Amino acid sequence: MSNCAVVGINWGDEGKGRMVDLLTEQYDIVIRFQGGGNAGHTVINDKGKFALHLLPSGILRDGVVNILGNGVAMDPENLLKEIGQVTEKGVSITPDNLKISDRASLLLPWHRDMDELEEQRLADKKFGSTKQGIAPFYSDKYQKKTVLAGELFYPEELKEHLKDLMEWKNLTLTKIYGAKPYTEEMIDEWLESYANKLKPFITDTGLYLKEAQKAGKRIMFEAQLGSLRDLDYGIHPYTTSSNTTAAYAPIGSGFPGAKIDEVIGVVKAYSTCVGEGPFVCEMFGAPADELREAGGEYGAKTGRPRRVGALDIVATRYGVEVQAATQIALTKLDVLSYMDKIPVCIHYIVNGEKTDRFPFPTALKDAKPVIVYFDGWKCDISKCKTWDELPEQARKYVEFIEKEIECPITYVSVGAERDSIILRTK
Ligand code: GDP
Ligand code: MG
Repeated sequence: MSNCAVVGINWGDEGKGRMVDLLTEQYDIVIRFQGGGNAGHTVINDKGKFALHLLPSGILRDGVVNILGNGVAMDPENLLKEIGQVTEKGVSITPDNLKISDRASLLLPWHRDMDELEEQRLADKKFGSTKQGIAPFYSDKYQKKTVLAGELFYPEELKEHLKDLMEWKNLTLTKIYGAKPYTEEMIDEWLESYANKLKPFITDTGLYLKEAQKAGKRIMFEAQLGSLRDLDYGIHPYTTSSNTTAAYAPIGSGFPGAKIDEVIGVVKAYSTCVGEGPFVCEMFGAPADELREAGGEYGAKTGRPRRVGALDIVATRYGVEVQAATQIALTKLDVLSYMDKIPVCIHYIVNGEKTDRFPFPTALKDAKPVIVYFDGWKCDISKCKTWDELPEQARKYVEFIEKEIECPITYVSVGAERDSIILRTK
């Protein structure tokens, strides 16, 4: 494997962090190319248990260089906090193993305020934002109203630039939301306490990657969230504000000409969805509570209970197409071990008609799932290390999914720990 992307096929939280942590054994560089500190990638390995937000999951593997690409929402405050938490657990983070693109835009203090104020204004029509400032950040980025990390090396120009942006943003804060304005002192304080502390990590990562590629280094791209949250291809407007798809990885990483050889799509053995938006296979009541508890389905960033449901073949097939996945890692199969019958959604009914196509976002609210049931295996599979050790019912379930989504399932994960994995060949 040379260049490879690890991406989410569904609504996020499929176990991307877990897969990146496993696969970094074969890689030299891991790049986060989109999204921000609203991610929650949980990794459990010999170093402990970590919930990573902005740091690439390769940070836990000695010798791997981690890059925050130009496509991420570079939040100095959150990143410093996270570096503190991870180093406290004995992981070394230095400019040798963490590099921040000088072209990454900085998430500014008012982005978090804007997120909070807008969710408050929307009240019961809210998007379910994590309130980390991600949507206001990306809107400003596309309006060219952010500063680049590399501008920290030009303090005079940066001061002017930030003052102009602050004056512009204060209009919205005070006149639209009736909130307090920012002052130059507040900006200076933010620069001193947070942004400037990241300077040792900021570099021309595009150049670094070009040279690394020439030297034959193996590069991995780590996505946040999943296909259905992609800004262009997801369940608009309940998406995130960036492109979560592998096709965006070269752009967001500082390596626009990169060729991605393998796209590993991560799929959970059932569905979960955090936040608002249509979720066709959602389960309710006691069965939902049981699945949520079995899978520990609470957000890594927010602690919010995740909505849960049956595996959705229609959405997953669409997710595979959008990602152009070349192989699949199916995670959390062990969670289903308690079920007598395992539900799977194989089609949707939309306006009385059966369909296998994932509908246009507006039509999703009218889609009803067609559910079939598989026999459960009713035994602990978390110690299984080979395909043959899995009970027949579990193998049948995996083979059915593989056939339906038309992509080889090469990894089956049966536990959160690094080595709780079953490898299959393509
Ligand atoms: P990500 O955002 O895609 O990286 O996924 P999250 O880390 O938010 O959510 C996945 C959760 O499932 C984490 O708590 C993982 O530790 C856990 N996990 C991952 N793979 C498995 C698995 O195969 N079995 C079990 N039981 N837990 C898993
Ligand atoms: Mg997550």
